[in-house]
Amino acid sequence: MRQAFAYTLAVATFLGLAAHTPLWAEIEAGGSVKADACAGDTTRLGVSRIVEIDTAGGVDVGGDKASAKHLLNDGEVVLTFDDGPMKSVTGPILKALAAQCTKATFFMVGQMALADPDLVKEVIDAGHTVGTHTWSHKNIHVISTAKAQQEIEAAVSLVSKAKGSPVSPLFRFPYLNSTKQTEAYLKTRNIGTIWVDIDSKDYRTRSAKVVEQNILSQLAKEKKGIILMHDIHPWTAAQVPDLLKELHDRGYKVVQLVPKGQTETIASYDAAAEKALSAKLAAKKANPMVSRSIVWPMSAAPTAENVPSAGTRHRLPARYRKVATKPDVADGGSDDAAPVKIPVSKYRRAGKAKDDASPWQFFN
Ligand SMILES: [Zn+2]
Repeated sequence: MRQAFAYTLAVATFLGLAAHTPLWAEIEAGGSVKADACAGDTTRLGVSRIVEIDTAGGVDVGGDKASAKHLLNDGEVVLTFDDGPMKSVTGPILKALAAQCTKATFFMVGQMALADPDLVKEVIDAGHTVGTHTWSHKNIHVISTAKAQQEIEAAVSLVSKAKGSPVSPLFRFPYLNSTKQTEAYLKTRNIGTIWVDIDSKDYRTRSAKVVEQNILSQLAKEKKGIILMHDIHPWTAAQVPDLLKELHDRGYKVVQLVPKGQTETIASYDAAAEKALSAKLAAKKANPMVSRSIVWPMSAAPTAENVPSAGTRHRLPARYRKVATKPDVADGGSDDAAPVKIPVSKYRRAGKAKDDASPWQFFN
């Protein structure tokens, strides 16, 4: 009996400790995150909380996954931008965020970061969180696990080298499509996955107003969430100033995600990334026009004109998929109302064509 009691106590103590091991913690602004002079200005949106995420052993945050952790209270949002950076779009977004003294997370594509390494620094210097979104925006679901690991590591190393220090261990799957194997791999790399609660659907319209309405109407229903936008669409940048003003006026609070640790990069990928960045620098020296060219000649990075429709569509969380197949009346019915499901063969063909363009010449 005494033994049983001791055992129960031990279990209770263990459970108690486990329950109090924080997955994330609020940290003081001004710690690892730069505090802005305008931080206390209540006329602006600002940042209400900075949440530090412990990605050790991997973690899923937000979205529909049963195992995912949810860190937001009602009225709280996290702003995220995928697929960039792209100067013509990311630049205005940075300005709008600065004007409201608020912070976002940018999930960068490796090729895009290579096309404009200075812009990576600009985003970091403005105090935003930067995570990665694979090297070339491949659909992880239709490539081999080995290739998926290359896609992840090449982006992690490239963005880290462009940034000048290891990038955040925060990741988002292109098209929000994962595999069990890749999820397991991310765990071994202590990289956390940030999913999506509120999809702006900015890849299905060219109307800034529709993007903003999409976000605000879903928020009204869900009351909180991690918001997905893309900093490769001009119409997305165009709606950000008004979106932020509306969020402020409607009483929403912005939460900034920061990682507890840094990503440990892999030496071979670091070396490849350095080579790629040196080649970029040499090309820029030889021809200043190469600077901030949107299309880096050695790779098939997407551009505003050349964003393949498959390349900008994301698989929506299950609860939005039904809605997504209906014509978007708010946009005058002009949106592409096709189902979001994309034929696998299309990805395979696109993937092969991209490989042939040899974006991997530094990453073999
Ligand atoms: Zn994407």
